Amino acid sequence: MIGGFISRPPLLKVLPFRTDADAVNKTFKKIGIDNNKLQGLFITHTHYDHALDLAYIAKQTRTHVDGSGTAINIGLGNGISTKQMSGYEVDKAMQFGDFTVTVIQSKHSPTFDEGEKIKEPLKQPAKAIDYHEDSSYDILISHKAKS
Ligand SMILES: [Zn+2]
Repeated sequence: MIGGFISRPPLLKVLPFRTDADAVNKTFKKIGIDNNKLQGLFITHTHYDHALDLAYIAKQTRTHVDGSGTAINIGLGNGISTKQMSGYEVDKAMQFGDFTVTVIQSKHSPTFDEGEKIKEPLKQPAKAIDYHEDSSYDILISHKAKS
């Protein structure tokens, strides 16, 4: 899975918000994701609209989370241990069955917080502006002769 955002919270920049567990559960039920089926969660950057639900998804599916140091701090702030998360090793190919996943350094469109990191665990509820980009990544997925 790429990205950890299923909740669609209202009043984004005004009020602190948290994962909408019901929305995540309904989506996972609809697409057939349950415990131990999701083999990895990759966070391309850590603005709220990519990372808000990462900890809840990790808890519910027990999947491993790969992301920046900021992604790890979002996980830590919401009860995910470092054993269930890894910082990216850019350009290193990872194997998931017949799929090869490679994380590539990328660049976000111009933003107010380019490269800014979350340096301590971030606990929900939090405001949209509490989620910072850190770095941005692209994900190259290869399957047999296609990528
Ligand atoms: Zn962004």
